Amino acid sequence: MTTQVKKPPLLFSTGFMFAATALISLIVVPWYGFAHGYSATTWGIFGLFWLLNGLSITAGYHRLWAHSTYKAHPVLRWFLAIWGAQALQNSILVWSAQHRHHHKYVDQNDKDPYSAGKGLWYSHIGWMLRDYPSAETDFKNVPDLKRDTIVMWQHRWYWPLTAFMNIGLPILLGWVSGEFWGVVLLAGVFRLFVAHHLTFLINSLAHFWGKQTYTEKNSARDSWVLALLTWGEGYHNFHHMFQNDYRNGIRWWQFDLTKWFINVCRISGLAWGLRRVPKFRILRARLSMDFVRAERKLQNSQLEQKWKTLIEKEYLQFKNTIHEWQELQAERANDVGEKLINRWHKTAFHTHAKELEYRLKMQRRRIALLSITLGK
Ligand SMILES: [Zn+2]
Ligand SMILES: [Zn+2]
Repeated sequence: MTTQVKKPPLLFSTGFMFAATALISLIVVPWYGFAHGYSATTWGIFGLFWLLNGLSITAGYHRLWAHSTYKAHPVLRWFLAIWGAQALQNSILVWSAQHRHHHKYVDQNDKDPYSAGKGLWYSHIGWMLRDYPSAETDFKNVPDLKRDTIVMWQHRWYWPLTAFMNIGLPILLGWVSGEFWGVVLLAGVFRLFVAHHLTFLINSLAHFWGKQTYTEKNSARDSWVLALLTWGEGYHNFHHMFQNDYRNGIRWWQFDLTKWFINVCRISGLAWGLRRVPKFRILRARLSMDFVRAERKLQNSQLEQKWKTLIEKEYLQFKNTIHEWQELQAERANDVGEKLINRWHKTAFHTHAKELEYRLKMQRRRIALLSITLGK
C-alpha cells in the first residue's frame, strides 16, 4: 500500500496572477498587435521597463543585497529598490532571505526554497504556487538588510509600490503617449510575463542545462545562452562556487551586462568596493574539475600505464602549487599583522602569486592535451 503525501495548500492569488499574465500575454497581446499594432514608443517603454526590472533584480536584489558583492550610493540603492519592486518578485528582504537559503542548502529538497532536486517545474514556478514549508521566509539570515533603511522602507511599502509601478505607471504612460491599451498590454502585462519567466530560468534551467565548469558539488550550470537572456546571470556554476564575486561572467567575452552596469556605476562614483575572488582560486577550481574529468576518462579507457603515471605526476604538481600558494597567503597575513609590508616585499609577493597563477594556467593546457589523448 502506498501512502499518499498530502500536498500543501494552493496559493490561489499567486496562481491567478501567473495564469492571468500568461494568458493575456499569449492571447490578447498578439491579437492586439495584429489588430492595432504597437508603436515604437510603446516598444521603447516595454524595453526600458524590462531592462530596468532585470538590472534591479540582478545588480540590486541579487548581487548588491543578497550577496553584498559591492557597496552602493543611496541614489543607486533607491533606484534599484523602486524599479526592483516593478519586477513583482517580492521585497528585497524576502527575496534575499530566500536566496541566501538557496545558496546555503542548494539541492536539499526540504531546505532549498527552489530546489532543482524537485524538478524543472518546481524550481521554475511550482515552489511559489503552494504553501511549501521549504519556501517559508526565515529572516534570521538577513540581519544586515534589516539595518538598511532603504530595504526596510521598500519592505514596508512593497504592495502599494509594486501596484503603482505595475498598474499606475503603465496607465499613466499609456494615457500620456495616447496609446493606452498598447502600453498597458505590452509594457504592463507582457513585460511582466517575460521578465518573470526569464528570471525564473536561473532557478530552473540554470540548474539543469550547461557546463559544470568549477564544481560538481551542486547542480548549478554555466550557459552563455541563459546569460544572454538574463543580463549575465547564466554563468550560474561560477556564481554558486564564488557567490561573493560581483561578476558572473568573468571573461571579457562572456555576456554579463550586470557586471558592466556595476562597473559603469563604479566609474560614476555610485558603486565601490567591488569584490573579486583571487584569480588563483578560480584557476584552482577549474583545474580540479579538469583532473576529475581526466580521471573519469582514464577509468574508462584501456590506455597504457604511462598515461596514468603522467596524470598522477601532474596532480602531485598541482597539489604542490596549491600548498605553495597557501603558504604565500599565510605569509601575507602575518606581514599585514606586523605592518611590515614595504614596497619591495609587496612586489615580490605579487610576482610570486603571478608565477603560481601562471603555473596553473600552463598545467591546464597540459591537462587539456592529455584529455584529448584520453578521449580517443
Ligand atoms: Zn546568488
Ligand atoms: Zn542557483
